[in-house]
Amino acid sequence: MLITDAHTHRKYTGGCSGFVRNAFLPRPETLDRINYFVSAGLHPWYIDNNWAGAYSRLLDVLQHPRVVAIGECGLDYFHGPDKAVQWHVFEAHLALAQHLKLPVIVHLVRAIHDLIPFIKSRPNTLVLHDYRGTEEETKKLLDYDVYFSMGRSYVKNINRSARFIPANRLLTESDTGKISVQDVLTKLNTELPEQGGIAQLNEQITKNFFNVYPKIKS
Ligand SMILES: [Zn+2]
Repeated sequence: MLITDAHTHRKYTGGCSGFVRNAFLPRPETLDRINYFVSAGLHPWYIDNNWAGAYSRLLDVLQHPRVVAIGECGLDYFHGPDKAVQWHVFEAHLALAQHLKLPVIVHLVRAIHDLIPFIKSRPNTLVLHDYRGTEEETKKLLDYDVYFSMGRSYVKNINRSARFIPANRLLTESDTGKISVQDVLTKLNTELPEQGGIAQLNEQITKNFFNVYPKIKS
């Protein structure tokens, strides 16, 4: 059974096509040598005064066949630079994603309430990684092209919104690797018994993965 990992920082150890590694800002020549898929973008924690230079280097790699998503990028109201700078950089990523028709892996900390009204005017496909929204926020987000990537916060019970998310919007992720995608899937299965068991639930999540990342052929 293929278990997909929609966002991870782990090293690729082979054998899984359903794996998107966060590469931050990779050099184009390194992408020619890898046999897995990556996302590329400016993480909000690492935005500094030179972000425009990094952003222009990003433009050089996004059309590479190994880059299947933009990100992780986003908004972190707890760490990182000034909110206004973060918003500026995030909007630049969204515009680029729209232009290149790539999904965006979004890092969101204490900023969901600001994102919801903003995405009304945006056609992007968003992967909200390590999703932590409340029931109310989740229900509002369902109106948009948003996927909910469940990971560490879900396994650790920080997030309890899975039962409000339709199965065709769920993804699984290992992120920094403190938990595994198998842990996430096992927990989802116990919480969503109506999905018909772990194999059926995973089949739906795998389908979602390939829908979100169409550059990866299933
Ligand atoms: Zn991450």
